[in-house]
Amino acid sequence: MTRLIFLGPPGAGKGTQAQSLAQFLGIPHISTGEIFRQAIKEQTPLGTIAQGYLDKGELVPDELTQNLVKERLSQSDAQSGWILDGFPRNVSQAAFLDQLLVTINQNNERVVNLDAPDEIVVTRLLGRGRKDDSEDVIRRRLEVYRAETAPLIDYYRDRQKLLTVNGNQSPEEVSTELQKVIA
Ligand code: AMP
Repeated sequence: MTRLIFLGPPGAGKGTQAQSLAQFLGIPHISTGEIFRQAIKEQTPLGTIAQGYLDKGELVPDELTQNLVKERLSQSDAQSGWILDGFPRNVSQAAFLDQLLVTINQNNERVVNLDAPDEIVVTRLLGRGRKDDSEDVIRRRLEVYRAETAPLIDYYRDRQKLLTVNGNQSPEEVSTELQKVIA
């Protein structure tokens, strides 16, 4: 049963890799960012709340995000494994997830840290053209990543759950390395 959390700076290729690995393994790819973007597109109540945060590159409040993940992991397709992409994003979310996974008996998760240097991620993000990829928002997302999310690397290393993959190579090379480390 594969349960993986993908960590890494925005622009490291997390989304692409998480999606294709999930497809290969036949398990859901759960991206909180995608869920928010979809909700914004559909103008749901969740979307209305999330929009202001995404537009600024800030994190959506923990409680809202945590409830969403809890709900998603309880669905039937998530019972045979999953890849979480973009969650957790800070230590409180990670602590919440630890507890949740123990409670629902899914606590065999491993964490893939997709590592890539700053110059690379900024260049990639600027070339991507997503709505929240303007230069100011990118800068803010990187700041938030460094301050809030990067500490999760040590958090999971301390818990012996961390696997590291070099994101500074071609998508094909990343996916080969990824398949090796999770085997
Ligand atoms: P992503 O697609 O993972 O780059 O996420 C895009 C945006 O969605 C982020 O900049 C945040 O505004 C929001 N977001 C995604 N995941 C989370 C999370 N776990 N906690 C809070 N906000 C999130």
